[in-house]
Amino acid sequence: MNKTVRTLGLAIAVALVAGLACVKSLEQSLGPTKGAYLSVDPGLCSGCRKCVAVCNADAITIVSNKAVVDPTKCIQCFKCVDACPYDAIY
Ligand code: SF4
Ligand code: SF4
Repeated sequence: MNKTVRTLGLAIAVALVAGLACVKSLEQSLGPTKGAYLSVDPGLCSGCRKCVAVCNADAITIVSNKAVVDPTKCIQCFKCVDACPYDAIY
């Protein structure tokens, strides 16, 4: 009886791990949902802060006079892309 319970428990644990691996794999194939697609060209960015002003997610900071997007905060509204006068953020 104990052996059966242990075997069943092990089977459930293996199924859970496999399920989690599937979810992770699906997430990776769909791509990240926040921010990862945005980049800033430091050669074009003037540090004017226009992107900072329009970002409602508070996802952009200026570091060494260049915009930096925090992918954990960005909601991909692309307001910053429209606001940048130098096409530095894309
Ligand atoms: S609006 Fe454009 S140029 Fe200005 S800080 Fe943002 S990315 Fe840089
Ligand atoms: S896409 Fe929207 S949320 Fe993301 S950094 Fe630009 S303005 Fe902020």
